[in-house]
Formats: sequence, C-alpha cells, structure tokens
Amino acid sequence: MARIVMKFGGTSMAGIERIRSVAARVKREVEAGNQVAVVVSAMAGETDRLVGFCREASALYDRREYDVVVSAGEQITSGLLAIALQAAGVPARSWLGWQLPISTSDAHASARIGTIDTAALDASLAAGEVAVIPGFQGLAPGGRVTTLGRGGSDTSAVAMAAAMKADRCDIYTDVDGVYTTDPRIVPRARKLGKVTYEEMLELASVGAKVLQTRSVGLAMKEKVRVRVLSSFDDTHDADGHRGTLIVGEEEIDDMERQLITGIAHDKNEAKITLTQVPDRPGAVASIFAPLADAEINVDMIVQNIAHSTGSTDVTFTVPAVELARTLDTLERARPGIGFDKLIHDTRVAKISVVGVGMRSHAGVASTMFTTLGERGINVLAITTSEIKVSVLIQEDYTELAVRVLHTAYGLDAEEI
Ligand code: ADP
Ligand code: ASP
Ligand code: MG
Repeated sequence: MARIVMKFGGTSMAGIERIRSVAARVKREVEAGNQVAVVVSAMAGETDRLVGFCREASALYDRREYDVVVSAGEQITSGLLAIALQAAGVPARSWLGWQLPISTSDAHASARIGTIDTAALDASLAAGEVAVIPGFQGLAPGGRVTTLGRGGSDTSAVAMAAAMKADRCDIYTDVDGVYTTDPRIVPRARKLGKVTYEEMLELASVGAKVLQTRSVGLAMKEKVRVRVLSSFDDTHDADGHRGTLIVGEEEIDDMERQLITGIAHDKNEAKITLTQVPDRPGAVASIFAPLADAEINVDMIVQNIAHSTGSTDVTFTVPAVELARTLDTLERARPGIGFDKLIHDTRVAKISVVGVGMRSHAGVASTMFTTLGERGINVLAITTSEIKVSVLIQEDYTELAVRVLHTAYGLDAEEI
C-alpha cells in the first residue's frame, strides 16, 4: 500500500462533469489499495474573477481581506469533490486549511507554509477515508486565513506530501507533462521524461507556470517525488511511463542531457524607469530599500551610465500585480531619492533560456542576442544566473521570440 497525494488544477476542476471524472480517477487509486489525499485548485478562472473583485473594490486593497476573498474558490471545489467521491461510493471528507491546520507565515497573498499537523488526517486516512484538501490556503499565526501566491496549490500538494511522508505527489494538469517550452505557444515543443529539480526550479521561477516555483523548491528540499501528468489523457510513453518526473541530477544520464532544457516566458512583470536619479553613493539604496520594506520583489535592474548632469536613469522590473503599490511607494520616497520622472510599462515580457549545460558551454547568451537581433527584437534588460539567461523585450514579440529561440537551440520536435 502506498500513500499518495494527487493534485488537480483549475481546468481539471472546472465544472461538475470534470469533478466527477477526477473522483473516478481518485477512486481508481483507492481501489488499487492506496491511501489518498487530494489537493484541489479552484475552478479555472475563478481565482482571477475573485482577484478582479478585490482590485475593483480598491487598487490598494488590504491583503488580509484579499486572502479571505480569493481562498474561497478552493473551499468550493474541495467540498464538491468530497460530495462527488461519496456519490461514487468512496468515503471522503474535506479538510480546510484552518481545520488541519496548515500553518503559514503572515505574509498575506504570498504566505509560506510552516508546519502541517497531520494527526487528524492520519487517523482519517487509516480509517479508509480520502482527504480532500483545498490548495492555496493556510492559517497565519494570528488565526487569519492566508493564501500562498498564484499557482500555490502545487505548493500545498508538495507540502502535504512531505508532511504525510507520501510515496509520491502526482500533479494532474491540462498538459501531459513538462515541455521544453509552453506547448500552447510552440506546438513543436517536446515533452521531457525527466527534469532536474534545479532546472525545474529555474524554469518555474522565470514563468513556466506548470509548477509554482515554491513547490519545486520544497520538493527539492524535502525530496518529494513529483510527477506532472494529464488529468485528461491516459496515454503512456513508449517506455511505459506517463508524464514528467522531477528528479535529482544523478538520475539523468549523460545521453539525456541537453545544453538547453527549456525556454520560458513571463508577461507578468512591469518595467519601471526613474529618470535623472542623482549619481551618488546610496542613490540606488534609496530606491530599493523602500521597495524591500514594502515586500515588493525587484527582478531585473539596469542602471545607465551617468549623464553629464551628474544624474542617471534606473530601470527595473517588479511583478505587474505590485505596480500600483510600487508607484505609490516610490512617490512617497521621492524626496529621499530625488528623481525627475517615474515611467512605467506593463507591455513587456521576460524570455528566459535555462539549462545546466550552460555551466560548461559558452555562447548561450550570444546565440540568444543574435537570434533576437536577426528578428528585429530589441533587448530592454538582461539578467543571468549560472544556468539561465533572461531578457526583457516588448510583449508583442513574446511568441515570436520563444519560437525562434526554441529552433535556434535545437529544441524543436522532429514531427508534430
Ligand atoms: P493547473 O490549473 O493545472 O495548475 P496551470 O495553468 O497552472 O495548470 O499550468 C499548466 C499550464 O502551464 C499549461 O496549460 C501550459 O500552457 C503551461 N506551461 C507553461 N510552460 C510549460 C512547460 N514548459 N511545459 C508544460 N506546460 C507549460
Ligand atoms: N487557484 C489558485 C490560482 O489560480 C491556486 C492554484 O490554482 O494553484 O492561483
Ligand atoms: Mg497551476
């Protein structure tokens, strides 16, 4: 008998018919003799709708109340799945985040999971019940509801798997695995049978939303065996496996290693430029310290060389959802910084290429710049890490950039 966590994303939970088919899938695992905890997302589109209400109510909404609103989507689907399982003859009950509880930090809207009490859950599983757990939500020390950041149900699933000492964590979604890039953008993308934690972590952090970044970091730390697979399609690969396994580097042999593992894009960043910032020691700190205090994550940063006037322009990116708070924070800090104009642009996209092969091969960045240059795509900012190169471009070129880079790095599938 194995203990497994099955996680179903928004598309898999979108409507009663789909919830019934999820229940049938869960039932198969129960009948195979497994103890099963299921982590569910809200129905597709529901969280966006709830976020929209918060924004409409106030651009600078209280994040504690935002969590109350947006955590509701998962409460609904967890109850519905428990009902569907019972109707299929499978004993089941829901466990809301506060009932277990799933304890988190108090960083509302992007809380981190601390500990999960599994005592009650263990008893319920041992009694043959399926536990249905709403993803994305938890409980802050003061007793208020938190959410884990967009896509956070993946992290709930991995955290549950670690806490329950599950044998595996299966992430069911609307694609049949992790691809070399988003298969909805590049039909010639190839499915990866295995991908390392490290590369998946980097891919997720630069926009491959198939897994939330934190879920991969947690899986790596807790050594959770994560598999990504389709909840719609049961086809097995030629080798008899399904989906994509996230594994340690030692589990990938040299033959399977590629220079570039994948390409990701992210349209959720906003570019901010402060013009005529005085070119003096401490100037950069006067910009970024207030943003750090406001818990706004700054990603790419470019500082131009000083004008003859002794001032310089500073450009950086922040998550687009934080734009209103960023502008507000910078306006407040204006006297201390002393800039002229505050310009923002949300029509940008970050394109990243990721691969551990980069450690030992030169020329990855230059291929990227040349390929984009040949297509007339302008690079607005650049960042690199040991296994990643990212560029910021105009949003309109996103699909084109991903496609041409996919070809340039030899990632295209032979046939589609
Ligand atoms: P869920 O609701 O199941 O959590 P998500 O929409 O969060 O699903 O994630 C699945 C989506 O991730 C896919 O539909 C696909 O468009 C997108 N995606 C982006 N990059 C990749 C990639 N490299 N491989 C597979 N899917 C990807
Ligand atoms: N429903 C949440 C979201 O859309 C969490 C998740 O689906 O993972 O972000
Ligand atoms: Mg998701």
